[in-house]
Amino acid sequence: MKTKNIKFNKNNTSNTSNTNISYIIDASGFINGFKPISDNNFTVPEITEEIKDLKSKLTFEEAINNEKIAIVDVKEEYKNKLKESISVSGDNLRLSIPDINLLSLALEFKLENKNPIVITDDYTIQNTLKILNIPFKSILTEGINQIYNWKNICKGCKKEYPNDYPYNDCEICGSDIVKKRIKKN
Ligand SMILES: [Zn+2]
Repeated sequence: MKTKNIKFNKNNTSNTSNTNISYIIDASGFINGFKPISDNNFTVPEITEEIKDLKSKLTFEEAINNEKIAIVDVKEEYKNKLKESISVSGDNLRLSIPDINLLSLALEFKLENKNPIVITDDYTIQNTLKILNIPFKSILTEGINQIYNWKNICKGCKKEYPNDYPYNDCEICGSDIVKKRIKKN
C-alpha cells in the first residue's frame, strides 16, 4: 500500500508561498464590520484600546475565538524603521501609539515579504501607508462590497432608484436619495 505525504498547510496552498496575502486589520476595520475572507489576519494588541463599542468588541473577540486573527507584538527595530521612514517624508502625521504599532507591523511584513494589505478606514493610517508604499483596503468602500449591496432609496417615499440614477432628489416627492446597505444573501 502506497502512502503519500500530503502536507496540509494553510499558509502554503499555492506553489509560491510569497503570493499569500497577510491582512493587517486596524481598529476601524472591526468598528466598520470586518468579516475575515481568509485565515491570514493579523493585528497588534494595542488596538483593543481603540475598540470600544460592544458590537466591534464582539466582532473582534469572535475573530480571536475562531482563530481568524493572530495578535502580534511588533519588534522594536521595526518601530524605529517606521519612525525613520516617516520623518524622511517630512509629513506631520498624527499617529497614536496603536497606529504606530500597526504601521510598524505592516512595515515588518513588507520587509519580510509577507505581502501585507492593511484593512483600515483611517485616513492618517492610509496616508502613512502611501508613504511606505504598502497597499491598503478600506472596509467602507471596497471590503464591504463583498458583503453588502448598495441601494439608492428616497428618504421620503422610500422609492428605490437604480445605482446609475443621476440625481440626488426623488422624482416623486423631491426628498433626498440616500445610499443604503443591504446584506447579500
Ligand atoms: Zn420620494
